[in-house]
Amino acid sequence: MIPSAFEYLAPTSLSEATAFLAAHPEDAKLLAGGHSLIPLMKLRLATPKYLVDLQHIPGLKGIRETDGVVEIGALTTHYEVLSSSVVRERLPVLAETAEVIGDVQVRNRGTIGGSLAHADPAADYPATILALDAEIVAVGTGGERTIKATDFFVDLLTTALKPDEIITRVRIPVPAPGTGASYQKFPHPASRYAIVGVAAVVRLNPDGTCAAAAIGITGAGSKAVRARAAESGLVGSRLDDAALQRAGAAAAEAVDPVGDIHASAEYRRHLVREFTVRALRAAAERARSR
Ligand SMILES: Cc1cc2nc3c(=O)[nH]c(=O)nc-3n(C[C@H](O)[C@H](O)[C@H](O)COP(=O)(O)OP(=O)(O)OC[C@H]3O[C@@H](n4cnc5c(N)ncnc54)[C@H](O)[C@@H]3O)c2cc1C
Repeated sequence: MIPSAFEYLAPTSLSEATAFLAAHPEDAKLLAGGHSLIPLMKLRLATPKYLVDLQHIPGLKGIRETDGVVEIGALTTHYEVLSSSVVRERLPVLAETAEVIGDVQVRNRGTIGGSLAHADPAADYPATILALDAEIVAVGTGGERTIKATDFFVDLLTTALKPDEIITRVRIPVPAPGTGASYQKFPHPASRYAIVGVAAVVRLNPDGTCAAAAIGITGAGSKAVRARAAESGLVGSRLDDAALQRAGAAAAEAVDPVGDIHASAEYRRHLVREFTVRALRAAAERARSR
């Protein structure tokens, strides 16, 4: 439970940090809240020579809304997300997601940038970030680029980030009027990680039919995914029980679950079906009440 020796660095600018990462692509690891990296280091599953702390770099924290887009700094903690008045009013499903991450300690230290960069297949944010069509902004020695959430999660613990890139912020468009959203999760009883978690976003036409739907799923494979066939099958429907059940079945077909000591692949597929229906039902009720 004691990490191998490492050198601690505390850069005060993004250019200093990215230059160091570029010079040490194999040996350096960024440190944000430390709630995924430090446990791995204690188990010696990660043995970086250099820990590059992001906490002294200005401009990586905070939440603001500009021109219909909510921007969340990478170092913003889960607690800051769930308690933000901007997030609660404009993106309540993101607050709902942050509220069910881990426990109080984890929510006070863990950051949105760290969670996305770590790409744990059982993490909560990826499902919601996918369903909200978010973008991830990263800076490297080559400059800044914006990555769509749908292109960001590549595989187990693997993202589209280059070795010298640092996430600086997440950009999330405020959903159009008539939209409702919900995150529903079956948590592991000890860690609270998602055995399966589903985020659903639906927009209704004035006549009550579904204009658009987005479904993000975490916990049911090596990475979080969108359930595209389930989404398109809902468009034009009244989101009645039969339509939701069809979407649940289509979502269960969209995943490639793995079995482990926590749940079999078959049980995870069952959970995807059930939690897709629950998330869609709650999202539709919220859309109708707006
Ligand atoms: C007991 C426990 C329970 C938990 N339960 C849950 C849960 O229910 N749901 C859930 O989603 N998560 C859970 N977590 C994980 C938690 O949310 C972590 O805080 C989060 O996944 C990582 O964020 P961090 O800021 O701690 O990142 P760190 O641990 O500091 O870093 C994680 C990785 O991301 C990289 N990184 C960090 N910031 C950046 C950046 N800005 N740009 C590029 N790379 C970066 C680091 O180099 C490292 O590889 C749990 C953790 C613990 C310890």
